[in-house]
Amino acid sequence: MNTRFFSIKIAVVGSGPAGFYTTQRLLKNQDIRVDIFEKLPVPFGLVRYGVAPDHQEVKNVINSFTAVANHDRVNFYGNVSLGEAIKVDDLLEAYHAVVLCYGSAQDKLLNIDGELTTKNTISARNFVGWYNGVPEDKDLEIDLNCDTACIIGQGNVALDCARILSKPTNLEKTDITSYAQQMIANSEIKKIYIIGRRGPIQVSFATKELRELMHLNDSRIKIEPSTMFEDYGLSLAQLKSLSRQRRRLVELILNLHAVSKKNLDHSPECILKFMSKPHKIVANRDTGWVERLELQRTRYDNADEFINEKSVPIDTNEFEKIDCGLVIRSIGYKATMVDKSLPFDTKLGAIMNTRGRIHGYRSLYCSGWLATGASGVIAGTLQSSQVTAQSILEDIQNKQLPSLAVDKSGYETIREIVKAKSIQVVHFNDWLQIDLLERRLGETMGKPREKFVDVDKMLDVAREKIKHDQK
Ligand code: FAD
Repeated sequence: MNTRFFSIKIAVVGSGPAGFYTTQRLLKNQDIRVDIFEKLPVPFGLVRYGVAPDHQEVKNVINSFTAVANHDRVNFYGNVSLGEAIKVDDLLEAYHAVVLCYGSAQDKLLNIDGELTTKNTISARNFVGWYNGVPEDKDLEIDLNCDTACIIGQGNVALDCARILSKPTNLEKTDITSYAQQMIANSEIKKIYIIGRRGPIQVSFATKELRELMHLNDSRIKIEPSTMFEDYGLSLAQLKSLSRQRRRLVELILNLHAVSKKNLDHSPECILKFMSKPHKIVANRDTGWVERLELQRTRYDNADEFINEKSVPIDTNEFEKIDCGLVIRSIGYKATMVDKSLPFDTKLGAIMNTRGRIHGYRSLYCSGWLATGASGVIAGTLQSSQVTAQSILEDIQNKQLPSLAVDKSGYETIREIVKAKSIQVVHFNDWLQIDLLERRLGETMGKPREKFVDVDKMLDVAREKIKHDQK
């Protein structure tokens, strides 16, 4: 018999796909109420701030997230950062269970000379944040008035960066920030290298993203070196050992030479460069801006290694230089540690957990990129969130949550903490007002929205809304 007379209060930290999908699943238990805490005044994480502006259709998930936020057993508290405004212990004290879904907000590093000191050497995370309007990236120091850009990494994010730099048609009609769109439209970049230390069998990007880059109305794309298969005594027939999906992708890469090359001046040429590892980034002595990327060639020991999706090549003694004016490193994201006591897998850049249960804790869970490491698309995040929510529902069902013995104060306690710190909390209705004004501004410019990129501006809108509601 259920003798509990209070609701089960759960705090979810982070309002990206993981936060919303986890909440959505938890709501299946009618006793559960969820409070979502978000660092920024605005929700949706990388759907707003990562997904490329020319992938507007991907952003439709926002509609179902909005329905979750509007549910009567859900509250949204924006502008409340875990680690700053509130601590993990505060939440564990106030809630029956806490789910961390705050994603991966840091860059992995190459650890090579010049990486952090050379101007116009930036991370893909900051570049994406700049064109998508992340408040802390809006003033990124970036110059596109150069001939050649090098993107280090061969994943989907690297291809997003290459595609945006290739000036896709109608970019101005997307929700890209206007300042970025204008700078990209005036960019002088003629050549974009997309560089990987491994071969064509091991790329991390997907066929769809490669096709998109190929089919950009006037983008030209080729591969280097073009003779890799012959070097290992292999023929295309040997691709049979790969999965169908991977074989298609590799065939597409190898067919790239055959793609007709339209010779249009205003669009850069893209070069997929394999078997090359960044060695050093060299700055101009006078200006400090990047002028050269030095690469070390790599090789596989034998044909079996070359054709194995998982293998990692070894270094050679051959080096190469590319003169360039922009370097974007796109080698992955990792999670930030908001609390030193959380068990952290430094290799994966994620919190150690089993099916979302954080090791060494009871009532503390994680989902999304924070739980799996920063890879995969929204569908994968949905899966991870469902696994975590299921673990919580099972732990409730099996009486494995010791905190359930007593009622919890929930937001009442957190309200006192943020009030004492004079933090302006942004509610979901305030976000809807920000959303409305962004869309109105966008309408005047022929685009779906023009994002506000200043936290202060967002908070002003929220404050005005509250004043208006109180009248
Ligand atoms: P996030 O989306 O990062 O959400 C984390 C949330 O936590 C954010 O709102 C953040 O502000 C908040 N947060 C961070 N720190 C704190 C804190 N201390 N306190 C409170 N809140 C905090 N997938 C696709 O399916 N299609 C695509 O086209 C696509 N494009 C992508 C492009 C890029 C550049 C990137 C990086 C990813 C892309 N993805 C795409 C993948 C997709 O974005 C991820 O699968 C998904 O966003 C991961 O969800 P998450 O909730 O774990 O993390």
